[in-house]
Amino acid sequence: MIVNELITGYLASLSHDLPPALEDLKNRARKEQVPIIRDDMLELIRFLLLKEKPKTILEIGTAVGFSALFMKSLLPEAEITTVEKVEMRLKEARKNLAGSGIRLIEGDAGEVLSGLSGTYDMIFLDAAKGQYGKFLPDIKRLLARGGILLSDNVLLEGSIAKSRFGVERRDRTIHERMREFLREITHTEGFLTVILPVGDGAALTYKEA
Ligand code: SAH
Ligand code: MG
Repeated sequence: MIVNELITGYLASLSHDLPPALEDLKNRARKEQVPIIRDDMLELIRFLLLKEKPKTILEIGTAVGFSALFMKSLLPEAEITTVEKVEMRLKEARKNLAGSGIRLIEGDAGEVLSGLSGTYDMIFLDAAKGQYGKFLPDIKRLLARGGILLSDNVLLEGSIAKSRFGVERRDRTIHERMREFLREITHTEGFLTVILPVGDGAALTYKEA
């Protein structure tokens, strides 16, 4: 948790109810320790989708389909594509997304993205945290002008702010790569980025029209 519990708890009291089927899916996923988005992230996505009304959305990191179904519930007309590579998650995602109209692409985003064409009005990046930088060239190409990239988990539970010696040795690669990613998206011409302490850290990037 990045923001203290008192504030998160208060903000939760202002949040919106989920449709019952999504509330169930959320609780099941949490119980099974599937790393789905946090409640305050739901509110940010809700704001962005209802304000921007993206016609096409690309999600990188489906897990069991919770966030994709949430986006679909907000914007039934949106064309949503979501990418997942892990079989254990796919098994559940296929079931949950069946009949939803959401397109599930099975494969490693590192390979899948280069094969995608066209553009997306919104991209939700929520996959392996050490790979965000690797996906960035494709994401920049796939993001429509005027479109928004939302990247989750960019503050790494707050440990992003520590020096590399303050983080566990095994987490250093992710720490270093995420810092590079954040530096790049905050300093690339033609893109505007703001980083928010929402969820596990959210970076909001706008590709200038
Ligand atoms: N967006 C989901 C949660 C995603 S969790 C939700 O909020 O409901 C992150 C997911 O990204 C995991 O299921 C993981 O298997 C997947 N993932 C990680 N690296 C990936 C990659 N390179 N390609 C495709 N999926 C990836
Ligand atoms: Mg996440």
